[in-house]
Amino acid sequence: MHNLTVDALVVGGGIAGMQTALDLADQGYQVALVEKEPSIGGKMIALSKVFPTLDCCSCITTPKMSAVAHHENIQLLTYCEVQAVEEKGLGFSARILKKPRYVDEELCTGCRQCEYECPIDLPNAFDMDLGATRAIRVPFSTAVPQYAVLDVENCLFCGRCEKICPVGAIDFTQVEQTFEIQTEALILATGFENTPIDAKKEYGAGQIANVIGGLTMERLLAPTGPYGRVLRPGDGREPESIAYVQCAGSRDQTVGVTYCSRVCCMYAIKQAMLLSGALPLAEITIYYMDIRAFGKGYEQFYQNAKAMGVEFVKGKVARITEDPDHNPVVRVEMIEEGPQVVERTHDLVVLTLGMLPGYDPDPIFQVSSNGDGFVRAPAVNFSPSLTDRTGIFVTGTAAGPMDIVDSIMLAGAAASEAAAYLESRRYETAVVTSLPEEPVHV
Ligand SMILES: Cc1cc2nc3c(=O)[nH]c(=O)nc-3n(C[C@H](O)[C@H](O)[C@H](O)COP(=O)(O)OP(=O)(O)OC[C@H]3O[C@@H](n4cnc5c(N)ncnc54)[C@H](O)[C@@H]3O)c2cc1C
Ligand code: SF4
Ligand code: SF4
Repeated sequence: MHNLTVDALVVGGGIAGMQTALDLADQGYQVALVEKEPSIGGKMIALSKVFPTLDCCSCITTPKMSAVAHHENIQLLTYCEVQAVEEKGLGFSARILKKPRYVDEELCTGCRQCEYECPIDLPNAFDMDLGATRAIRVPFSTAVPQYAVLDVENCLFCGRCEKICPVGAIDFTQVEQTFEIQTEALILATGFENTPIDAKKEYGAGQIANVIGGLTMERLLAPTGPYGRVLRPGDGREPESIAYVQCAGSRDQTVGVTYCSRVCCMYAIKQAMLLSGALPLAEITIYYMDIRAFGKGYEQFYQNAKAMGVEFVKGKVARITEDPDHNPVVRVEMIEEGPQVVERTHDLVVLTLGMLPGYDPDPIFQVSSNGDGFVRAPAVNFSPSLTDRTGIFVTGTAAGPMDIVDSIMLAGAAASEAAAYLESRRYETAVVTSLPEEPVHV
């Protein structure tokens, strides 16, 4: 890999990072986008459909991924991480680590023959471990770029992939590489992670097979999902009664997440509506403390779900256990029907897990975070993407919990603020270099 010089370096290739990179590149700036995974797309590419429009997520994310990969002003650097950043020249010098794919990117055509030939079956992380994948694989069907990647930890080194590859792309000798990117501006788009499913002991601590997280349900509902239909993971049975437990990892002192994660009410309502379509006879219940349908058209979306027969129960779920048939049993303190505690049995329970920051940028980028760990935007009302370090901007859920609409809006804001910053520096440089060296005597 060669050293690069760009105007802006975007870190993170989820929807926010991709949109910021595209907005800057469309204005003529040279952009590098660094993504730590083998493909861009972030969480959005794994979702089924999006609220409030119920558009197919893959159909709207894949063209963006492709636009990033083919833009003449964007250098896409996947499977790379920023190791160090220092101020240098007119901006920053970032040291990038490129992890070995053990596949030559110049040669690989993404034909997947290596994947079909590999004898090692592994849980498929893209399908939240429900389906299987191989030790060498193209990360998922719509991955960008379409190159295979080898999981060296689980490889037998049997050489079957090497023999079958029609272009000789497998290279077991690849090693890590480092290179430098010189950039004037940096944009952090490192996204979020969910609160771990085992964070709440009272909800089974991740040990009850038929208690799953929201992203797992997204994969079950996705047309490209692991089973092609909604089945419960414990025994592959079609669930007839599905419950959602809201705020399972948000607004909760016991797991250290005191804030509202903002998207979980809406994605639970979305999934409930999709389930009503996929399993018309299933009973769907949402246990909630309050529903936060804050965005444009969101309240109507909520009302539509009620009209479709989704049951909304105002109550705090105290505990989840399982019966001898592995059905989750939910113990709820009812709020609206007088103070009483009831136990209800469902076939499948979905915990709407909270949002945590995906990455702590402080050690490398020296930007500070709020108490909750998301990147601090000191002038959030006027310049929402400015961080407390000049030249470094933040976008998407790296700045705090938000949905796709808000991530895209903040991506636009980050691109505009970064562009304004680049132009102001060029103007200052032009003024300084055009000043006469000797004083002019009139
Ligand atoms: C179950 C679920 C359902 C949802 N459904 C909807 C919905 O229907 N509608 C909606 O509007 N919103 C929905 N959301 C919210 C939506 O997923 C987020 O708003 C959106 O994905 C945020 O995009 P992002 O780019 O900020 O973050 P991410 O999607 O997390 O992308 C961040 C990217 O940065 C990369 N990265 C992280 N750290 C580094 C690093 N150090 N170096 C390089 N790369 C790095 C990551 O690998 C990732 O690719 C849902 C969320 C969940 C959990
Ligand atoms: S490594 Fe070879 S066999 Fe595997 S996807 Fe690439 S070109 Fe096809
Ligand atoms: S060498 Fe490794 S990746 Fe290739 S086929 Fe054998 S086990 Fe799979």
